Formats: sequence, C-alpha cells, structure tokens
Amino acid sequence: MLKRSLVSLLEELGDYAVKVFSEFEVLEEGDSLTLFAPNEELLDWAKDFLIPRLRGKVGRRVRLKLFDRSTNLNPKYTFENFVVGKRNEVAYKVCLEVSSAPGYSFNPLFLYGKVGVGKTHLLNAIGNECYSRGYKVLYLQVEDLYLKIYRFIKEGKLERLRETLKSYEVLLIDDVQFLSGKERTQVELFNLMNYMFLRNRQMVLASDREPKKLLYVSERLISRFEQGLVVELGLDEETKRKIIERKLKERGLKPTKELIDYLSERTSLNAREVEGAINRYLIYGFEEEREEESKGLEEVIGLVLRHFNLSERELMEGRDRRSVLARQVAMYLSVKVLGIRLWEVAIRFKRRNHSIVIYSVKKVEELIKRDRRLKNLIEHLKGKLK
Ligand code: ADP
Ligand code: MG
Repeated sequence: MLKRSLVSLLEELGDYAVKVFSEFEVLEEGDSLTLFAPNEELLDWAKDFLIPRLRGKVGRRVRLKLFDRSTNLNPKYTFENFVVGKRNEVAYKVCLEVSSAPGYSFNPLFLYGKVGVGKTHLLNAIGNECYSRGYKVLYLQVEDLYLKIYRFIKEGKLERLRETLKSYEVLLIDDVQFLSGKERTQVELFNLMNYMFLRNRQMVLASDREPKKLLYVSERLISRFEQGLVVELGLDEETKRKIIERKLKERGLKPTKELIDYLSERTSLNAREVEGAINRYLIYGFEEEREEESKGLEEVIGLVLRHFNLSERELMEGRDRRSVLARQVAMYLSVKVLGIRLWEVAIRFKRRNHSIVIYSVKKVEELIKRDRRLKNLIEHLKGKLK
C-alpha cells in the first residue's frame, strides 16, 4: 500500500527512479519508514538522490539500511517489531543474548514451537541484528539446504558448498523437522555443526517440535541439537491481541477494541492467521451473517456424522474412503444446498484455503452423474436439511 504511494511520488522523478526503487524493501513502523537497499551502490543512490527528494513529502522519519539478499534474511522481521509476551519472553531474551555475542552465549540455540508462534521471525531478527553489526550471516530452510546439497553433488562441487557454508559466522537453519529421513543432509549438517561449534560460530535452529521428538533424525544429530540451549516458545491470547494491534497499525487501520475482538475471535493461537483475517476484513468488513452460516454448517456436519456413523475427527481428518466421501458430501451440502461461503467451510474443516472445498463440490457433482445411490443419498440428506 505504502510502497505504491511512494512509487507515485517517485514517478515525478522519472522511470529510472521507479525501476531502481522496485529493488528496495520497505518497512513501515508507526511514524518511521525504513528503506532497505539491496547493495552499496543503491544505498548511495538512495542517500544522494532519493532521500533528499522524499524529505517533507512522506511525513515520516525515513531511515535507510543496507540489505544483502544473499543472506536470505527477511529484513522486516526484527526484534523491535516482535511483540513480547508470557510464552515467548524467554525465547526473545535468549535470542537477544545470542545476537549480542554470537558464538559465545548459547551455541547451538534450538527454538521450537507450533506453527505461527514467531520462530522464523526470531531467527531473522537474530540474523538482521548480527548482519547489521557486520557478521557474515545466512538464513536457510532445511528444504533449501537439502536442494543445495543435491545440486552441488550433481555438479561434483560438494566440497565447494561445504567451504561456503563454513565461511559464515552466523548460520540460521529453519524448519528442522523437515530433516526427517534426509540422511545425506543430516550428515552434512552434523559435520557442519561440529566445525562451527569448535570455532565459536553461531548456529540457531528452529523446529516445530523439540529435538527428541524429531522423527527419522539420527541420534547423534539430535544430541548435537541439545548440546547448547533448547527453548520452547508459544503464543497466548493477550500477546496475540497485541500482535493484531500492531499489524493493524502497520497497515494504517485503527485498532479499535471492537476490531481487535473481532479478529481475535476469528483466529487460533497462530500469528500467521492474523494476516489472513485482516485481509479478509479489508475485503468483507465485519461479517454479520457468519452466525447463520455457522449454525448451518453444524447442522450439515451433525447430519453427515450420523448418516455415515463417523466421529468428528474421522470426518475432519480421516483418509479412508468412507471418511473422504463423507467429507466431500458435507462440503457439497454446505456450499450447494445451504449456500455457505467457501471460506467459511474451509475454516470449519481446518483447511488452509478453499481450493479443497471447490474440489470436493466438483467431485460430488461428477459422482452423482454416475452413481444413483449417491444421488439418492444426497436427495435424502437435502430433504432433512430443509
Ligand atoms: P513460525 O515460524 O513459528 O511458524 P512466523 O515467525 O512465521 O511463525 O510468524 C508468523 C507471522 O506472525 C509472521 O508474520 C510474524 O512476523 C508474526 N509474528 C509471530 N509472532 C510475533 C510476535 N511475537 N510479534 C510480532 N509478530 C509476530
Ligand atoms: Mg517458520
């Protein structure tokens, strides 16, 4: 939003300025604005050309920072914009500590917690802090590490990759749970960690579960993970509300109690859902009819559960044919008979987006063309709903 309004300012300065500016990242925080330049050259350009021309026009304090994309860091995840609460306070403090003396406090540091509690945010915050203090930093997801290893093996250059990885002073490895069964990657990581540890180079890892609970990961790697400090983080309602408030402000929306209540009710303890809920609010506004829809959905679910003789859990997660069919029928009835919106159905069935709902509806439509029994069943259930 903001980037666009800056671009319109820049248009007066010509196409070149607009084009170059597209290389920048922009972070808004309250009344200040940070521009991240991807290299020294553009940093100079911004200093000499851009900033003097923006002054007085954007009505905010403008800061300029260097940001090197080869670190893979997301410059928007910082300590300053991390909301500290009951269940992430310890992790936050430990991460600050690690940033203040990388390699010399807790090494390795292992963070774990559920989806959307801020693990990736904290890893990047450590990275950004260390990077700004001159350390050589790399952020990598396990999946990327895995792909890199295979690419370099294929090209016969594994040794070169090893040397490159060893050259970092701070290495941040995310989504460690995906090491499961990736034996080659585990071996490389184990050797790398030994090397780094002996030379006081910092490693920070993040995972959705604690080291002991990782599946198909070698014992020796697990004990490496446990050798420094293992910290759990989570989210609580109060902190989630503060995150909502912060995100609303960042997007130029007024964080009224009503709006925060509304968004809070519609998200679980997962900060990732907050963005989605705000987007949805921006499109639909407050959704009153939701009550009606949720009554209808519960009715469909109850009906389908009774008819197929399933538990709710089977209906939501079951992979056997009966459960899958029941789920598809329930989605079909919700959308086609009761007219409930796709998103609403997706949320009730704990799906990330509504593509599965669309698919299910189509599938049932296909099936009833050929299958009389199913067609009769749908008619029968329809009758009960009305
Ligand atoms: P995880 O890696 O644990 O799944 P993320 O770090 O990706 O979670 O967080 C999801 C989103 O929520 C990100 O946009 C992140 O910035 C935001 N977020 C999570 N925790 C906080 C927090 N304590 N303060 C501010 N934003 C947060
Ligand atoms: Mg993450």
